[in-house]
Amino acid sequence: MSAGDRAAVASAVASAVVIGGGAAGLTAATGLAARGVEVTVLEARERVGGRTHGIEVAPGEWVDAGAAYLGDRHTELLDILKELDLATTPTTMAGASRFALARADAGPDAAPDADPDANPAGRGDGSVTRDGRFPPLNAVALGDLFDRLAELTATVRPEAPWLTPEAARLDTLTAAEWAARELSHPDARLFFPLFLGEMMAADPADVSVLHMAFYLRSGGGLRYLNAFEGGAQQDRVAGGAHLLCERLATRLTASPYGRLRLGEPALAVHQDADGVTVRTARGEYRGDVAVVALPPLLADALDQHPAPPAPRAGERTGRGCAVKLHLVYPAPLWREHGLSGWSVNAEGPLLSTVDDSPSGTGAGVLTGFVTGAEAHRFAALDPAQQRAAAVAQAARLFPMLPAPIGFHVTDWVNEPYSRGCYAALFGPGDWLRLGPELTAPHGRVHWAGTETSTEFFGLLEGAVRSGRRVVAEILARPAG
Ligand SMILES: Cc1cc2nc3c(=O)[nH]c(=O)nc-3n(C[C@H](O)[C@H](O)[C@H](O)COP(=O)(O)OP(=O)(O)OC[C@H]3O[C@@H](n4cnc5c(N)ncnc54)[C@H](O)[C@@H]3O)c2cc1C
Repeated sequence: MSAGDRAAVASAVASAVVIGGGAAGLTAATGLAARGVEVTVLEARERVGGRTHGIEVAPGEWVDAGAAYLGDRHTELLDILKELDLATTPTTMAGASRFALARADAGPDAAPDADPDANPAGRGDGSVTRDGRFPPLNAVALGDLFDRLAELTATVRPEAPWLTPEAARLDTLTAAEWAARELSHPDARLFFPLFLGEMMAADPADVSVLHMAFYLRSGGGLRYLNAFEGGAQQDRVAGGAHLLCERLATRLTASPYGRLRLGEPALAVHQDADGVTVRTARGEYRGDVAVVALPPLLADALDQHPAPPAPRAGERTGRGCAVKLHLVYPAPLWREHGLSGWSVNAEGPLLSTVDDSPSGTGAGVLTGFVTGAEAHRFAALDPAQQRAAAVAQAARLFPMLPAPIGFHVTDWVNEPYSRGCYAALFGPGDWLRLGPELTAPHGRVHWAGTETSTEFFGLLEGAVRSGRRVVAEILARPAG
């Protein structure tokens, strides 16, 4: 493309520095490079992908240590996957579930397995096998919980949660305070934190009611977010979600306009009348504009001059708390026993498990989610204690399985370049204060990242949408 063509396509902007090589930053960078903008991506880690990350559990068999699932409504993500020649594969969820939701007044449905051969190690821990995914708890109490959550969710203005009619009230309470007031049945109280841990990797004490309701709405509503078939967990990226960013990075560096610097965290962003200088420990990068594609707590760690009118995170903004575990078996052996691999458990470390076996004929992989407050407790254990606790619990839940042949722990809570996962948690006061500035460019600095997307906030889809939004913003900038 000649300089003249480029000017015609790329509007007033000829160069950009993108901070962060996750899905958002790389979507923005490839979009800009495709329009002839000279782009440099600065990535802190020695790999691209951020909160997507692949682990090779057997030769050629990969599992997702970070983001894994997507559904039909994730249209922009599906669009990019198609462009990159990446296929999706359905998540396997056939068979019965296991539940260890110990409770004093369990009904007949919740009786522990009577057949010791079916579950010898489960005797006495209250664990049960049950068809489907609905937990063996009081159905009316859980129905009431979901009705109340659905009512709350329906009140939110998804494109501007801070303008929700009752925003001030909803942004004062934490979800824990809401539950203490609203949920009287012990089963609803037991299940609510497990549900929030699974959906948001949040302890209810760490999020405002407004953020909880917004998150559920933004992701497509309670049912969609919670569902496998027909919902947000329907599919995975064949070969691993990390391939998305790897292919975007390949596309970027194959372009005459794209550069990628790994292992180079941005430290400072200084604007002047003519452009932006981004400083790292190794040097300085100059662009007409910069894109900050980082989680909010990390965006605020940049030394910015002039300072933005509002911080990206508030005093109560927290880290999502998730540690992801992978237990690897020679094959998905639970399937032979009519089990799906899905379990939900009142006690950790494995608060839930799911069959994430790669789609080939090889290894069987159970993914364990350790979320919320349990993630902090687990992350503080040493590796031997972590393994012992997880393997012992898996043996109680799935006594027919041999000892795993592989075990992997991915602790996102303590990842310095993520600071928590799945996404930042907005606490009381955050949305009212931060919301109005969420996407407004600060001079020559534009904001991307899943936490800047009011659609599918916290998900890969949100990250991709934010990257595309920023490309449109930059191309529409007036000259000067
Ligand atoms: C365990 C887990 C499970 C998840 N499950 C799902 C799921 O099933 N489906 C789904 O859609 N989403 C899921 N998510 C969320 C999804 O991963 C994120 O929404 C998405 O990856 C965010 O992309 P991003 O580009 O906004 O941010 P990030 O991926 O965090 O990218 C930011 C990048 O910036 C880099 N960086 C940080 N600081 C600096 C700096 N100073 N200078 C330069 N670079 C820096 C980081 O290394 C990172 O690469 C999950 C996340 C986790 C961790």
